Amino acid sequence: MNKRNKKVSVGIVGVGHLGKHHVKHLAAMDNVECVGLYDIDEARATVISDKYNVKSYDSLEALLSDCDAVTIVTPTDTHFNVASDCLTAGKHVFIEKPITKSVAEAEQLLTLANTNEVLIQVGHIERLNPALVPLKNYSISPKYIEIQRLAPYDVRGTDVPVVLDKMIHDIDILLFLVNSEVESIDANGISILTDSIDIANARIRFKNGTIANLTSSRVAQDHVRKTKIFQQNLYITIDFLLGLTEIYRVLDPEEPDLDSIQDVQFHYGDKTKKIVYEKPDIPSFDALKAELNNFTNSVKGSATPIVDGQAGKNALELASNIHDLILEDLH
Ligand code: NAD
Repeated sequence: MNKRNKKVSVGIVGVGHLGKHHVKHLAAMDNVECVGLYDIDEARATVISDKYNVKSYDSLEALLSDCDAVTIVTPTDTHFNVASDCLTAGKHVFIEKPITKSVAEAEQLLTLANTNEVLIQVGHIERLNPALVPLKNYSISPKYIEIQRLAPYDVRGTDVPVVLDKMIHDIDILLFLVNSEVESIDANGISILTDSIDIANARIRFKNGTIANLTSSRVAQDHVRKTKIFQQNLYITIDFLLGLTEIYRVLDPEEPDLDSIQDVQFHYGDKTKKIVYEKPDIPSFDALKAELNNFTNSVKGSATPIVDGQAGKNALELASNIHDLILEDLH
């Protein structure tokens, strides 16, 4: 049978808060044989196995012997060991973000994947947020990007500092938006609730001149996930939480603006321009389902990972540099 028509057999490792959603989606996908799940917490494994009618395996080795690919949804400090076992067994892996705890571990996983001719995809799910879809209709070359990601405290994720838990989502998007190398980083952070950094701010200058200012916190009253992109004649504001993208463009007064909801003229010197406000329709889809579809199609060879292992490592590398600078600044 043609590889593209064959069902991909997938297993899920770790079925906690996020892993159960992996099971739910993978069990419902037509092009997937959801082989089973494995979790070190037997009681949890049984609950999820019963709920979605998916077989529970009593060891990782047993699960691996029955599948072509796995999604790894265990705590970050276990990603390296679990993924190493899966890649060594010749399985394609989807690893929840961050790819690993250290850059050296991520590099070892990339080498293992290369040696075993299998792929790594990383769960930077924000890259599949429907609010990003309208950006493909604009030529993006940011001069300044302002990013905020705030969340109330949640014990899940505190096994890593806030930069590796929260800011790394925005770092991945930033590296996708700015096609340039990092020139310099200025970063500060503080601990409030844990022994680790809970609030972080980083100002990044890229070699092409783009500046980004990122703030992440797990000490907030409400969730905020906003990105603002400023460039010549264009301002885009994205609310990842609401799935809302608003666009302001500067045009000459006579230029057509068919998609505008509102336009306002302004003057400077002897010039007259107009600011055009657009609110593009945002497609409605589930980002996790789209991400897992992208993974299984990539295993079949009919797609490529939207966030591959290299992108996951690049995001981790920048996040780690930011975190190290914060610690240096504190000492
Ligand atoms: P969780 O603690 O709710 O679940 C983790 C599960 O893994 C638990 O059931 C635990 O028993 C199991 N487990 C631990 N070690 C294991 C091992 N060696 N083998 C098999 N099972 C093991 O955690 P969570 O919130 O679901 O997070 C899991 C991962 O997903 C983390 O890396 C986290 O950073 C990531 N995550 C990503 C997003 C995102 O937006 N993409 C959101 C939340 C969590």
